[in-house]
Amino acid sequence: LMQLFRPLDMLGTVYRTVRQGLIDMAAMFGLLDTAVEVRDAPGAPALVVRTPTVVFENVVFGYEKDRTILHGLSFEVPAGSHVAIVGPSGAGKSTIARLLFRFYDPQAGRILVGGQDIREVTQASLRAAIGIVPQDSVLFNDTIGYNIGYGRAGASAEEIEAAARGASLMPLIERLPAGFETEVGERGLKLSGGEKQRVAIARTLVKNPPILLLDEATSALDTRTEQDILATLHRVSEDRTSISIAHRLSTIADSDRIFVLHEGTLAESGSHTELLGAGGLYAEMWRRQASEDDAVAQAAE
Ligand code: ADP
Ligand code: MG
Repeated sequence: LMQLFRPLDMLGTVYRTVRQGLIDMAAMFGLLDTAVEVRDAPGAPALVVRTPTVVFENVVFGYEKDRTILHGLSFEVPAGSHVAIVGPSGAGKSTIARLLFRFYDPQAGRILVGGQDIREVTQASLRAAIGIVPQDSVLFNDTIGYNIGYGRAGASAEEIEAAARGASLMPLIERLPAGFETEVGERGLKLSGGEKQRVAIARTLVKNPPILLLDEATSALDTRTEQDILATLHRVSEDRTSISIAHRLSTIADSDRIFVLHEGTLAESGSHTELLGAGGLYAEMWRRQASEDDAVAQAAE
């Protein structure tokens, strides 16, 4: 009888893997109804990431013919480094993420992951190499264990628990009536924004990708929760290459390198200290955000 079920099981696994890529992206981009227009090249091999580098080379891209968003963008993310991409809202930060996942292809230039042009490998292997923590994570109406295990088909109970530990979710899970078997989501227990982000982090830990992409991962949280989640994100990023996309500069000031996006090109790059010293766009954004924070703090007093 078990023999009979095996092929069905495999179908389920494939379906789940494909669906997960789409769900993560939908969560990240809010694009559930966007048609996937990119296909694998015939006979494309799987991406093999020996050194997890990311390179954008003169990338030109626009969603519509007459409106270019990225005008020849180039930047390099060395393996194991923690970089940030900053810029005003609408600058094209999430567009960079969409291109990196090959949701679209650039009109000119190329994108390399681990030295390979992402157009020449399978999308499934590309997406398996990059973990996303989006601004708002989607939870399924299922158990919290299922929601964590969703990071990778076939994850064992031990792997799920290790991931929950890594994401500092155990204090919550130990409080839940049925532990990992507790139903969460719309029809189950409602988790807070911070708890949902921890589930997203645990999902990423189960997936164990060499590259992490955080797109405004903490921007929907209150300041204290943001600090907690940032600490966890720092820990899980430690032995990976990470790219943090952020609007609030205070959350990325300790990055190895910060790329400042302005009008579709790289306007500045350097460490926080270097960029402040340069007295350019970043320094100005920093000053403006600091005075806004002061205003908020004073209003709260
Ligand atoms: P950011 O993440 O920096 O706020 P985005 O990368 O999301 O900015 O968007 C950059 C620009 O591209 C914006 O002007 C936005 O309106 C536009 N844009 C984003 N998605 C689409 C889309 N699917 N179709 C057309 N234009 C889009
Ligand atoms: Mg964005």
